[in-house]
Amino acid sequence: MTTYHNPIGIHAQVWVGDWSPASARKACASSVEAGYDLIELPVSSIEEFDPVMTAAIVAEYGLKMGASLGLQEHSDISSEDDAAVQAGRAVLREALSLVRDCGGTYLGGVIYGKLGRYTAKATPRGRANSMAVIAELADEAAASGITLGLEFCNRYETNLMNTTAETLAYIDEVGRDNVVAHLDCYHMNIEENSFRDAVLAASAAGKLGYVHVGESHRGYLGTGSIPWAEFFGALHEVNYQGPITFESFSSEVVQPVLSRNLCIWRNLWTDSMDLARSAREFIRENYGA
Ligand code: MN
Repeated sequence: MTTYHNPIGIHAQVWVGDWSPASARKACASSVEAGYDLIELPVSSIEEFDPVMTAAIVAEYGLKMGASLGLQEHSDISSEDDAAVQAGRAVLREALSLVRDCGGTYLGGVIYGKLGRYTAKATPRGRANSMAVIAELADEAAASGITLGLEFCNRYETNLMNTTAETLAYIDEVGRDNVVAHLDCYHMNIEENSFRDAVLAASAAGKLGYVHVGESHRGYLGTGSIPWAEFFGALHEVNYQGPITFESFSSEVVQPVLSRNLCIWRNLWTDSMDLARSAREFIRENYGA
């Protein structure tokens, strides 16, 4: 098998639910021990996130860094409520400054609206509010060499973009070079007609910027129903060079806000290191990086 050189990442919540110096060290040391190159930090849901401490520990372990967040009801920039839009704008600008202060180059996730259940369709005004904030944030990010990734989610976690095509349409309307599509196979599995078509479309638009790998139940890779050969084959077909970050959540590691927003009710694993090593080996064997 050909060897590929994508950075292979892991979400910090596989290891820890908070970001004290001791937890940051445990997460970084464990990521390296399990064979990963990159750690993804959930910047908004971690209290008292210290960028100087984070940068030092991430550098000490020689890791690359990614950052992600999901907005909440009170900070939903796709709302028609101006107070929520302004609160979300403040959350995003703070997250961007944390990423910049850590020396990071990527801020992704559900940054375009609330991560959570909606009971109505997105409105044109709400969508316009979201795009206005993202356009402004992208300009600020560009000044620091930071890329913004829009992670579309399944219908139960956002009403704004559920597919690659919808994400590309939004990005096209925002019209900023440093805004990319962030594809997560957990969400794709629920919403896309075809994994291959989705990857090819994002790549053809020049917007395939970041990839999350997660199983259909968000547990051990290879034990669910994701069509891995098709997905990994498509990433090879378009010569994707960007990060591939493993996400898995269990009630074993609890970060209250994120766990609740992602509906992590089941205990899908108990041993973080066993899970992480297994995922790393799965990516090596099935992707070739
Ligand atoms: Mn994801």
